[in-house]
Amino acid sequence: MKSIKKPIVIVGAGFGGMTVASNLKRLNPSLPILVVDSEARFLFKPLMYEVISEELSMWETTPEFSKIFSDLGITFLRNCLTKIRFDEKILEFNDDLHIGYEFLILCTGSVSSNFSVKGVDENCYFFNNLKDLTKLKSFLKQFQNNKIKKNLFVIGAGPSGVEIACKIHDTYKDKFDISIVERSNEILGQNKIFNREEAEKALERRKINILLNSTVQEISEKKISILNDSEIKKLEQDVVIWTAGIKPNLPYIDEQVKQIKGRILVNNKFQIENYLNSFAIGDISIIQGMEELPLTAQVAMQQGDHLAKNIERIFLEQDLLPFDFQDNGEMISLGMGEASISALGVTLSGKLAFEARRLIYASKMPDISRSLKSTASWLFQKKSIINKFVNKRPK
Ligand SMILES: Cc1cc2nc3c(=O)[nH]c(=O)nc-3n(C[C@H](O)[C@H](O)[C@H](O)COP(=O)(O)OP(=O)(O)OC[C@H]3O[C@@H](n4cnc5c(N)ncnc54)[C@H](O)[C@@H]3O)c2cc1C
Repeated sequence: MKSIKKPIVIVGAGFGGMTVASNLKRLNPSLPILVVDSEARFLFKPLMYEVISEELSMWETTPEFSKIFSDLGITFLRNCLTKIRFDEKILEFNDDLHIGYEFLILCTGSVSSNFSVKGVDENCYFFNNLKDLTKLKSFLKQFQNNKIKKNLFVIGAGPSGVEIACKIHDTYKDKFDISIVERSNEILGQNKIFNREEAEKALERRKINILLNSTVQEISEKKISILNDSEIKKLEQDVVIWTAGIKPNLPYIDEQVKQIKGRILVNNKFQIENYLNSFAIGDISIIQGMEELPLTAQVAMQQGDHLAKNIERIFLEQDLLPFDFQDNGEMISLGMGEASISALGVTLSGKLAFEARRLIYASKMPDISRSLKSTASWLFQKKSIINKFVNKRPK
């Protein structure tokens, strides 16, 4: 068996990084693994909406990395990667820290993109990371006792936009007039038809306005300018939540690494061209010659799982295997106590889907849940129950 002197360094401990680290440790406990993340806590992004609606507490969706990795027996370092010297196999971090590696796994996810629209950074709330979640949650709380309805705009009718709009409606009842602004001619354009239809019904029931074929031109402190049918409308706004887009989080990569659509180009074994001991998975990567995959936790976890097996194969001196994505379906929340699921030929909506979604997510946190055993979390307590009943489920 091959042996190494320097560690396998995993940068980014989100869905991809967490999966590759825990699986690699399980497959080969003697491997030296170092996981680095710029944050102190994992964020279970698909459940951010439930934190806004207070169906879940912040701590339930944001376990501490130090606790998770000490339970797994993996070394964790909190720091931010700033540069990679691929030829020397050296990583540069904040505070002038340099770390050498034998194998490098990059999985630093996405950040919100303002698409260069004027006023977005200054006047919008984003919904992508822990800071965004904390900021939006505390901002919305001030409207709890409001007597006059405020105008709230959600930009982007993808899953994030639709889900946050429904949750805010149900949490704040008659405090907001909610509108979703979407550039294309439909909501959830990339999603399953069943979920789209359920979402349309959920939005209609809540009287949430949907402005289709509408492009945001500019956002100022009090107004939002929207282009629709060659006409620009300036509407009064009190809150704007920007969920219109994301971009890969790669400030540490320079032009020596080939990129497509701003994402690192990898082969179907996740190797970076010219640097075959370096890998990229999850939102930051795009696989050469393969249909573009959705930017989801499901993809990042399947890739993390596959990469762990491939790294183990390197140590066993076996050939690496190509990755193949298995679409296990999708789930979206549609307000408090409601959801829609379209997975493996099964469709489910309403309260049953809500319950199933929550239980499925609980079962998706195998290593994280162990570190939370002492808590009385509803979410994680159900894990053992769901494992008995759900064999085939969306990741
Ligand atoms: C609100 C919301 C809801 C979502 N809902 C769903 C859903 O229902 N289903 C689904 O499948 N997907 C969902 N997604 C998408 C999913 O969360 C992402 O596709 C997934 O997290 C990508 O995994 P990743 O490992 O690539 O990156 P991430 O999980 O984002 O992890 C990246 C990690 O890298 C760290 N990092 C970044 N830069 C550095 C650096 N320079 N140095 C060190 N560390 C760094 C970050 O702190 C982070 O911990 C949702 C996303 C959002 C925002």
